[in-house]
Amino acid sequence: MKLSVIIPCHNEEKNIFLFYDEFKNAFKYYKNTFELIFIDDGSKDNTFKELKKLVEKKENIDNIKALSFSRNFGKEAAMYAGLKEAKGDYVCIIDADLQQKPSIILDMIKILDKEKEYDCVCAYQNNRKENRLMTKIKRTFYKIINSTSEVKFVTGASDFRLFRKSVAESIITLGEHHRFLKGIFSYVGFNTFYIPYEVEERVNGKTNWNFTKLVKYAIDGILSFSNLPLKLSLYFGNFIFISSIIYLIVALILKLEIVTTLMFFFIFLSLSIILIFIGITNLYIARIYDEVKSRPNYIIRSTISTEKNNKK
Ligand code: UDP
Ligand code: MG
Repeated sequence: MKLSVIIPCHNEEKNIFLFYDEFKNAFKYYKNTFELIFIDDGSKDNTFKELKKLVEKKENIDNIKALSFSRNFGKEAAMYAGLKEAKGDYVCIIDADLQQKPSIILDMIKILDKEKEYDCVCAYQNNRKENRLMTKIKRTFYKIINSTSEVKFVTGASDFRLFRKSVAESIITLGEHHRFLKGIFSYVGFNTFYIPYEVEERVNGKTNWNFTKLVKYAIDGILSFSNLPLKLSLYFGNFIFISSIIYLIVALILKLEIVTTLMFFFIFLSLSIILIFIGITNLYIARIYDEVKSRPNYIIRSTISTEKNNKK
């Protein structure tokens, strides 16, 4: 088995066969050298039924496996499940909605075949079809995370990647519950080759992202890879402490009427800052709690595959 392709799917009923046909077309000269691993991440539509049809297709000679989660656990969990299933020497993660063209995987394979010093090829979006505000928000996120995090993030780098088995194995060994794969890829290291790619329009269905989900995802990333927010309280605390001493001295010398007003202002300011940082600390505590509970990242309801053609 040469290549394992991981395809996370959430409400993609109309895209399963389209994806498969496009993939098959791109890989027509590569028969039996790949396995497709679809992960149905708790879809509410007929995604798993479509996957069943695909697996049971008589003329199907490809290696196809489909897992279905007991509920929606998120794309990170779906990718993790796929990584655990992958047996190929090369592993690829690609979306089901054809926004990422399967033919690009062939270019990625060529790079890894030729450039032995590289272990991963990552596709980054050079111009994403989205509004300017969104692009600006994303740029700001990358700036914040890069200036505060222990590992570096490449702007626009997607989950659309091809990497060697060794990279997949090292990612699986990381036991953290809150998984932020973009950061994990940077954390495990290895040499990464970046190629630009054009994001296509979604063929069917709609994006699973909205503004709130993106903000949550960004906070997840920062909490996973940066401890700076925790330290900020110390910096602010010191700053307020020094400011209040200066303020006290000035107030004593000047004996100003404005003093009472300013005093209230500082009391409220300090209180709000204290509350904000208690909040930030609580975010980390909540994550520690989640890690300690060590619940699984996902629960599999059923698995089907062309290999055994059996159902669990
Ligand atoms: N996805 C998933 N679980 C989720 C959300 C998304 O498995 O909870 C899958 C989805 O089916 C798609 C990929 O992740 O194959 C990317 O999702 P989407 O197209 O919604 O994101 P976008 O391309 O808009 O960033
Ligand atoms: Mg998409």
